[in-house]
Amino acid sequence: MKIDLRKIYRFDAIPRNPDGSLPTGGDIYYECTECTQVVSSVPHIVAACECGNLSGKGGEVAVKAPEKVNPVRGKLR
Ligand SMILES: [Zn+2]
Repeated sequence: MKIDLRKIYRFDAIPRNPDGSLPTGGDIYYECTECTQVVSSVPHIVAACECGNLSGKGGEVAVKAPEKVNPVRGKLR
């Protein structure tokens, strides 16, 4: 079952780390600009975006194309 995180959270864009890497954190999510889906930056359950750019589990996300990812901060609606 797919959960639409946008129904639960409001996402605000945040900057990348100074070294260009993607920030991680409990309230940080990655928006895939290819398929527009959002995946937690520290997923505890298996999570992946539709196009396969983002796939994660065990608290880590594998990113195939970092340039197609926007880091965002999620706040509960
Ligand atoms: Zn995607």
